[in-house]
Amino acid sequence: MSYMDYINQDRIPHTWCSGCGHGLVLSSVARACDELKLDVHQSAFVSGIGCWSRADSFLNFNAIHATHGRAISFATGIKVANPKLNVVVCAGDGCAVTIGGNHFIHAARRNVDITVIISNNYNYGTTGGQYSSTTPTGAITATSPLGHIERPMDVCAVAAAAGATYVARGVCDEVLQNAKLIADGMRHKGFSVIEILSPCPTQFGRKNNMPRMSDFLKMTHEMTYHTKNTVATVDGKLPLGKLVEIEGVEDYSTGYQRIVALAQGEVQK
Ligand code: SF4
Repeated sequence: MSYMDYINQDRIPHTWCSGCGHGLVLSSVARACDELKLDVHQSAFVSGIGCWSRADSFLNFNAIHATHGRAISFATGIKVANPKLNVVVCAGDGCAVTIGGNHFIHAARRNVDITVIISNNYNYGTTGGQYSSTTPTGAITATSPLGHIERPMDVCAVAAAAGATYVARGVCDEVLQNAKLIADGMRHKGFSVIEILSPCPTQFGRKNNMPRMSDFLKMTHEMTYHTKNTVATVDGKLPLGKLVEIEGVEDYSTGYQRIVALAQGEVQK
């Protein structure tokens, strides 16, 4: 098999805009699946609503297209019902950490053994380019035409503070490095988050002097630095790489099964 076998050829070419970063992120996801030789019959993809959430239809896996902001809660249910499945969420910044912020924080705190891949393009692209919780201060969006007044959420710092046991960040053009970060997140036993910074030229870029993907990549590489084992922003630059990896923390399904076994008298306390 090659990574292309994980792409649903019946749905290609995909429907993302020219210059959108989601196609690059999809390539990283497929390459990660290929590195792990992920069994399509033992895996489930869950997405929410949004441009990146179309990813599930471009992949050869059983999938649920859930409601907006609820992908992580659906994924939690699947994992608890069948802990043997590899459960992967594809959701954007609007779905995963804005509407779905509550689910994101509590899945991290519970250490649910799922992998959440967030393609962060700083706005709600599908619904017209409204601001999300990751929109930078001052940015022009459909709902902040005179400049956004809020500070952006640092997705990786929030994940780490909430208790996520694997946290990583990349930029979409680093396809092979991101594939490795995603594969390691899928391998990890516990809640894993991989945030990929990705352009939305159609909605966000053209309003913010970044009409081409190359404009976004130039800006993004200037405001980031490569490191490991820290979520610290240094001199205004966000860290890229494997930022948190903590082994040995009991995941939610294992704890749940332990309690079920106790309740059914299968084991003594
Ligand atoms: Fe990509 Fe933005 Fe187009 Fe959505 S609207 S497909 S995020 S460029």
